[in-house]
Amino acid sequence: MNFVEKLAPLAIQHGLANGVLPSLIIAQGILESDSGTSELACNANNLFGIKAGSGWTGETHTKLTAEQDKDGNVTHIDAAFRKYPSYAGCVIDLVHKYTHGTGWEDFNRYAGVLGQTDYKLAIAALKAAGYATDVKYATKLIEQVEKYELTKYDKEVDNVVKIALDAGHGINTPGKQSPADEREWSFNNKVLLACAAALKQYEGVQILRLDDPTGKTDIPLKTRTDNANMWGADALVSFHHNADKGRWGIHGGVETYVQERTASQASKDIAAIIQPRIVAAMGLRNRGVKSKNLHMTRESKMPAILTEGGFMDSTIDITAMRDDTKLKAQGEAIAEGLAIYFKLKKKAGASKQPVKKEEDELEFTSGTLRNTVDDLLNSPAKQKKLIEDGIKAGSFGTVWSDKFEKKQLGKHDILGLYMLHYK
Ligand SMILES: [Zn+2]
Repeated sequence: MNFVEKLAPLAIQHGLANGVLPSLIIAQGILESDSGTSELACNANNLFGIKAGSGWTGETHTKLTAEQDKDGNVTHIDAAFRKYPSYAGCVIDLVHKYTHGTGWEDFNRYAGVLGQTDYKLAIAALKAAGYATDVKYATKLIEQVEKYELTKYDKEVDNVVKIALDAGHGINTPGKQSPADEREWSFNNKVLLACAAALKQYEGVQILRLDDPTGKTDIPLKTRTDNANMWGADALVSFHHNADKGRWGIHGGVETYVQERTASQASKDIAAIIQPRIVAAMGLRNRGVKSKNLHMTRESKMPAILTEGGFMDSTIDITAMRDDTKLKAQGEAIAEGLAIYFKLKKKAGASKQPVKKEEDELEFTSGTLRNTVDDLLNSPAKQKKLIEDGIKAGSFGTVWSDKFEKKQLGKHDILGLYMLHYK
């Protein structure tokens, strides 16, 4: 197996899933490791000259390296590089650098590399980010892509759905905590992680995380939406948990927000699919889909929603929020809603198939869901049939039939039952 054949599956697996073009990774590998023959490649499986750095706890490989001081004088020093058991490690690290930035800047200078479908644009973005000091680096990369026809490894990019996920705030953001000092970001983060894990069960999904995954930095909202826009996300979900006055009370419930006035139909459809699922996952009151003027939904160019999975200062809701299985279910419910909206297919071997056949008959794009729902909401006969069918199929319990007879069902209940039955 030659070098390109060995590197390509790793570039596809780790690059494609994170919005980095496989052709770019392979071209960099060819150039920087001299097709796997460099000393670093042979002795440390390090194709990209990735230095150990202070945070690295793995094995290191020391190599005499030319360094330039600030006056331009070249000296040779022993530098520690990361040593990997196989090529996979260095590919993962390179991709991580592009998705998360340098780690010492509060923005991601490589964000422009992400989500490109044209290798020349990806290479231009890498150059603009100052990746290499060699002024001919970009030209050399383009030569490798063309010489080895590397774009054939990018083909799958066309069918990819890009989802930007955002756990709101940072762990220490003032005012974002329960009266017992539990941090909102910690709840949001658990939901986000469950959602991301569930989305990875589907084919052709790329995920970009917009907040700091450690929670330490409250990344400015503008940076978050700029990155989502630059990446060309197909949808954005910002995960939150609510607070009323910051004092314990018995208020509560789940709500999903779209941008007031300017929300796209797609945003509204996604919110309509997801809201009742969060309600079911958390077992909390349904406050419905609402609209508000919010940075994350206003400044993002793609369909965007902001979820509030319960109130941190509600004595009712906090019980659910302290239950990690519920937070996990909330994340999975949101992933499932996205999967339905984007008609995602489970990967072969993924645990279960939540999108059933019936779903294929539903067109959720641009207003069709809304029409179906309006139709249902205006027809008590259809509601009765939905409830009978749902109970028969075991989608929900007989309590809903009682509530229907007593006319106690709100429209969000009906929508929730509809979603539960056709899940
Ligand atoms: Zn929040």
